[in-house]
Amino acid sequence: MIKTQMEMYLHEELETLTRTEIEALQFERLLRTVRRCMKSPFYQKRFAEAHLSPEDIRSLDDLRKIPFTTKQDLRDNYPFGLAAVPMSEVVRLHSSSGTTGTPTVILHTQKDLDEWANAVARCLYMVGLRRGDVFQNSSGYGMFTGGLGFQYGAERLGMLTVPAAAGNTKRQIKFITDFGTTALHAIPSYASRIHEVMEEMGIDPVRDTKLRTLVIGAEPHSEEQRRKIEKMLGVKAYNSFGMSEMCGPGVAFECTEQNGMHIWEDYYIVEIVDPQTLEPVPDGEVGELVLTTINREAMPLLRYRTRDLTRILPGDCPCGRHHKRLDRMKGRSDDMMILKGVNIFPIQIETVLMQFEELGTDYLITLTNEEANDLMTVEVELKEFSDDYPRLQALTREITRQLKDEILLTPVVRLVPKGTLPKQEGKAVRVRDLRRTLI
Ligand code: ADP
Ligand code: ZN
Repeated sequence: MIKTQMEMYLHEELETLTRTEIEALQFERLLRTVRRCMKSPFYQKRFAEAHLSPEDIRSLDDLRKIPFTTKQDLRDNYPFGLAAVPMSEVVRLHSSSGTTGTPTVILHTQKDLDEWANAVARCLYMVGLRRGDVFQNSSGYGMFTGGLGFQYGAERLGMLTVPAAAGNTKRQIKFITDFGTTALHAIPSYASRIHEVMEEMGIDPVRDTKLRTLVIGAEPHSEEQRRKIEKMLGVKAYNSFGMSEMCGPGVAFECTEQNGMHIWEDYYIVEIVDPQTLEPVPDGEVGELVLTTINREAMPLLRYRTRDLTRILPGDCPCGRHHKRLDRMKGRSDDMMILKGVNIFPIQIETVLMQFEELGTDYLITLTNEEANDLMTVEVELKEFSDDYPRLQALTREITRQLKDEILLTPVVRLVPKGTLPKQEGKAVRVRDLRRTLI
């Protein structure tokens, strides 16, 4: 069915399900998934070890009887040990980008790929993108799921889709101007890079391009960083959350309210647990995101521990979707830095830095230790060149003071000229830990 420009929902019947309807659908799909898992050698063993059988799942709450699945499980059973269909039905595999170690593999049937494209199309439609829009994707293609994931989703919506892929920023910008790109998908650090190169090329994003919508995700970023990017490029930027293990993009996405990302509960059952006790935390409290796929054939995952820390935003969203909203990711549990016994997340530092008009969006945190003392150095790029040293000194002092208020220890702050911090091809590296283990 072709949707008109005015219609709000791509899959109205699924997007506007009530809570009771969502839970009924989830239970039905969970049962189907658990039965399917019994075809996977890995889950057969898991269930046997836990003395559990699919018949023990009699309500949605019984999900909690099922043991967690971890990234280590995927590694230990690499590459095909979790397949729940004969390999002859698998039409594609993807691998995680390996930010945190050995890659893992995810398998897809043709139906899995169709459903994934539907989910991404639903997300893009939700933020107002329609047939007639030109959608450019600056993700790496290949194994990285942000490439093909957005490609098929955007095509499903009928948009003209430009698979620009990563790298060569000048060419990226030429595509934006030549093809009249109206929507761009970029990781936040790359969105800033595009702006920087546009400036060098004398291109004004508002005057010289048709860019109005930005989809940003794949790495943690603060609300302040989003606002900066929106202002720089003259766009509305929407947060997009996904991970290879859950297909890729299309897991959770902001609606036009820009207040939390709706997680598609007809695809996933969401739990937030305390990472230490693994007990559920109440809505509104931060914990580890645990996801169960309930709409996947080739490789369903039960209670997968994502290691991402977030919370469920309590209350209803004015957009009419009852699918729960995830707050902006706080980071991965392994991003946490411990300095002098204090737990710190890079995003806390970013939130402070991005409040300063004078600063750009690139920063690097370096941890060192001299004798027994942990030291944090925060280098941050200035937005504009300046040689007004008294002003820069005062600014450094003020940033240091605000950081100290936030993280309870005093970092060394260095303001550096624009474009001097190392740029990554993929996800930004915000922390360098050069601490030596002291004997
Ligand atoms: P890798 O695990 O190797 O980075 P993925 O490409 O699968 O490979 O990345 C998924 C991870 O990226 C998530 O688990 C999360 O940590 C991070 N991520 C994805 N989207 C967002 C987002 N919108 N905000 C913050 N972090 C995100
Ligand atoms: Zn909403």
